[in-house]
Amino acid sequence: MKVVAGVDLGGTAINYTIVDVDERFLIEGLCEHPSLSKQGPQVCLAQIEEGLKIALALSGIPFDDVVAVGLDTPGPASASGVLSAEGSTNFIHADWAGFDIRKGLEARVGRPVTYLNDGNAGALWGHFAIFGAASRETSISAVIGTGLGGGVIVDGNVVKGRMGFGGELGHVLIPYQSIPGIEGMLPQCNCGRIGDLESLCSLTAITQTLVPYFVSRYPGHEFEKIEASKAAKLVRGMAEQGDPMSLEIFRVQARALGLFFDEMVNIFDPDALIIGGGALETGVDFQRWFIAETRAGMPSQREEQAGIPIHVMPNGDTAGARGAAVEALKFARQRGLS
Ligand SMILES: [Zn+2]
Repeated sequence: MKVVAGVDLGGTAINYTIVDVDERFLIEGLCEHPSLSKQGPQVCLAQIEEGLKIALALSGIPFDDVVAVGLDTPGPASASGVLSAEGSTNFIHADWAGFDIRKGLEARVGRPVTYLNDGNAGALWGHFAIFGAASRETSISAVIGTGLGGGVIVDGNVVKGRMGFGGELGHVLIPYQSIPGIEGMLPQCNCGRIGDLESLCSLTAITQTLVPYFVSRYPGHEFEKIEASKAAKLVRGMAEQGDPMSLEIFRVQARALGLFFDEMVNIFDPDALIIGGGALETGVDFQRWFIAETRAGMPSQREEQAGIPIHVMPNGDTAGARGAAVEALKFARQRGLS
């Protein structure tokens, strides 16, 4: 049975998945191995190979059946997988600077390797979950985590961009001043922009901007007594339980996302809009409310575009590995390997 593997390299763990040519995932949940990325490329690549062999053994698949490997990592990296020469928080060892991690892994495992950054891999997984790997559809995925990640899939293919920065949705400016109830707010992003999507719609935004803004407007709220970073982690659960201030924080995030999606609708006329990430790892009722608020944040659409569906991305923990595997499967099909 021919298969492709997906390898999601994070700062502390590598997550693996295996998918066969009929697009069936042979690993259900997380399949992790320590990443050792701090010890530099050679140790880390050996570690990736070792973990891959373990994952295959667990699935009962011989190594010979693997026709391609899909790799995803945090950026910044070029579209073809050359890590930034400036280094990055996830690749601090000096030997990673300018390292071609895609080629490095290809040499190590003796199979063709495809590369995506982790945001784009997550977006491809979200797209695949709705449309499959042979899709020609277009979708926009916004993944709300510590930052705001995601990506753009056009005609079934990931938009990587000339330098690998395609799909950096978080730093797209939005007309946030039109969101009701945030008069005087100055949402500053870590990238330096004021009022981009991440500055209003991310865990960082909750900590740096939304909790400090709203806590003074809800006198006596329990968040007055705790640090913003701790409060930020409680907001989702409290919103789900109906806490008015926490709901307000999520409403602002949803409205910001609505403004962004409206921009994307006008640029891409997509088949689907997809929301992923920890923010929506909640019950279905809360997800429905959040989607309704997102839609309410979108200026009125043309009649033909008003029905563009908004989906919640499934399987958050494994999104990177699964998206990386889908990219490798698409490659294998194009090359006639599967
Ligand atoms: Zn930004």
